[in-house]
Amino acid sequence: MFDLSIVIPVYNEEEVLPALFRELTKLVKKLTISKNLGFIPKIELIFVNDGSTDKTEKIIKKLANNSDIPTTLINLTRNFGHQSALTAGYKYAQGKFIATIDADLQDPPLLIEEMYKTAISEKVDIVLAQRIKRDEGVFKKITATMFYKLIKAISDSPIYEEVADFRLISDRVRDTILKIDETPRFYRGLVSWSGYKTKIITYKRKPRYKGESKYSLKKMFNLATIALINYSSKIPMLWTIYAFLVLLLGVGFKWPSVVLFTAIFIPYSAILLIYLQNIYKKLQKKPEFLIDEIWRNKAYDRSEKTRKTKERKRKTPKRV
Ligand code: UDP
Ligand code: MG
Repeated sequence: MFDLSIVIPVYNEEEVLPALFRELTKLVKKLTISKNLGFIPKIELIFVNDGSTDKTEKIIKKLANNSDIPTTLINLTRNFGHQSALTAGYKYAQGKFIATIDADLQDPPLLIEEMYKTAISEKVDIVLAQRIKRDEGVFKKITATMFYKLIKAISDSPIYEEVADFRLISDRVRDTILKIDETPRFYRGLVSWSGYKTKIITYKRKPRYKGESKYSLKKMFNLATIALINYSSKIPMLWTIYAFLVLLLGVGFKWPSVVLFTAIFIPYSAILLIYLQNIYKKLQKKPEFLIDEIWRNKAYDRSEKTRKTKERKRKTPKRV
């Protein structure tokens, strides 16, 4: 029903929402008057409210009701995390292409125009946005660089450096990845694992427009762990090499056996426990997220009405 869906996960983003809405409106206007596409795309916005405790929900409803862009707001029952919020957005997106973008304007919404055009003109299913420069704090830069280098080095499928969740995929990529029972999910890995034709475009990542990062250290650590567990089969081999080196060092330098034992078995049990914990989580089969409410604006209802009328006209045979 739509040509393009734009999915935005939001967690306590009240401060950025008015500016974000302005930018998204600019983007939609640009795309819908754009002559070089050769058609006027129908675009929808999907906000996934990932358990915000501030005024995020209220502000989105207000902004969307004053907008003529069909907008859906999915309110999750609590905070399930960014990747799960993306799944909710992907499940409800009706577009032939689906773009995902952060709310804080670190990713410029206007770049979606280039992503969409690239997908159509180059006939690719995936367009990834790669950061060539980051205007962020030192801590974020260092942890992110370490994460990308590590996962790129040991991942089984190609994972691109400095590519996060700012991307555009076709509905068939979305259908493919949603069928995969990966919990928790790591979309960067899933999307490149799918192997569909991919184009990369580059951009400069700005600092957050307002507010604080919603990715706590714990959330970053969990994401990195999921990435390593789900996308690398090299961990057992790397572990064996590590243990062997420690053993050689210990014997060579005559370490007391308690030091040797600690250096080998504590990290060993930690890795084993992380694997077990993840298997246990999978066996529990808990849903990835729960929805409290799906809300749609008036523009969405109007577009739905038009679609139904058109469908009815198409189905009713003309009298002769
Ligand atoms: N986010 C979310 N749930 C979370 C954490 C973050 O939906 O538990 C959203 C957040 O509102 C933003 C995007 O995910 O739209 C990326 O978060 P953020 O910009 O804080 O991450 P950073 O850029 O600092 O890595
Ligand atoms: Mg951000």
